[in-house]
Amino acid sequence: MADNMSNDKLRPETIAAHALRALDPATGAVVPPIYLSTTYARDENYAPLLKENYVRAGNPTLWQAEEMITALERGAASLLFASGMAALTTLFETIPQGAHVVAPAVMYYGTRNWLQRLEEKGRISLTLFEHGKIAEALRPTTDLVWIETPNNPMWDVTDIELAAKLAHRVGAVLAVDATSLGAVTTLPLTLGADIVFHSATKYLNGHSDVLAGVLVTRDVNPRWTEIASLRAKLGSPLAPFECWLLMRGMRTLFVRYAQASNNALALARHFSNHAKLERVLYPGLATHPGHDIARRQMTNGYGGMMSLMLKGSFAQSQKFCTLLKVIVPATSLGGVESLAEHRKTVEGPESTLPDNLVRLSIGIENVNDLVADIEQALKEI
Ligand SMILES: *Cc1c(COP(=O)(O)O)cnc(C)c1O
Repeated sequence: MADNMSNDKLRPETIAAHALRALDPATGAVVPPIYLSTTYARDENYAPLLKENYVRAGNPTLWQAEEMITALERGAASLLFASGMAALTTLFETIPQGAHVVAPAVMYYGTRNWLQRLEEKGRISLTLFEHGKIAEALRPTTDLVWIETPNNPMWDVTDIELAAKLAHRVGAVLAVDATSLGAVTTLPLTLGADIVFHSATKYLNGHSDVLAGVLVTRDVNPRWTEIASLRAKLGSPLAPFECWLLMRGMRTLFVRYAQASNNALALARHFSNHAKLERVLYPGLATHPGHDIARRQMTNGYGGMMSLMLKGSFAQSQKFCTLLKVIVPATSLGGVESLAEHRKTVEGPESTLPDNLVRLSIGIENVNDLVADIEQALKEI
């Protein structure tokens, strides 16, 4: 009953909706049980019943959620962590001492801060590349190339296929922060990437109520085995209840992502020539510098992430966020409710972002309510 449906033949929307046909073989429950147990008994021969018998190394609910993500990303295996940061810092832990890392100058600031911290400690050498300049940043000693596409919060698009070719030419691994792609619109492993990362806190869960991160690999190789072993030793796997909530969230991933993409595209078009705005940054707009790559690479919507650059000061852009009545002034992204954030306030005085940039995570509301909300807030600044 549980495994008579070949997932190879099924389309991703079906795999998601059925949570990989997670029927409980004992009861036929359509929604799988949560295995909260921290420990699993051995059998009469003192042999373990499961591949891991202590929750820090793994558990059945975790494996179920991981299999679902592996199927969606068309990878070989996945590892779920207690947060996005826990996942990516564990990957960085596998960089050999003193090796060279290449990463974008503009990206999720938590990742950039962590890489800079590793560089300050003499753990790695780091080259941050300006958009489109990966080739120039590579060295024969480069171990890891990290990209984020579309990147926070400018939404520039990186050609994954090209990045993989360049990274592989010097023997480096290409890892892609695919958080804003949601495992829906671009599958980096099919374009040559070696590892995909998601903050599963965002689109994968989609309901702003789970903190989680995931790595997905194209090959189960020694580096992957090391990451898996580190997760067990560091004690950072995702807890069973969060795994279960994440699976529930992922069942509706494709409809959520489609609605968010449609809403964001409509908003981007509506506001692209607005008198109170300097610019709208959204890869779905023909005027966006990354649009040509996006059209090729984002095959199932341009996502719900966009930024507005206001004709206004730091203070006015911050105020804009407080004037919104539907869109919530909060950090994070990828949830069903729209959020607005003045990124420079959040990143602090060292931020190199424009004063007038407001990042929007567009949700699944009726788009007319979002248009009206942004219009009324712009009128007030
Ligand atoms: C949120 C986020 C992270 C960090 O993930 P957490 O789940 O918050 O630890 C990394 N990259 C991107 C693009 C993110 O949006």
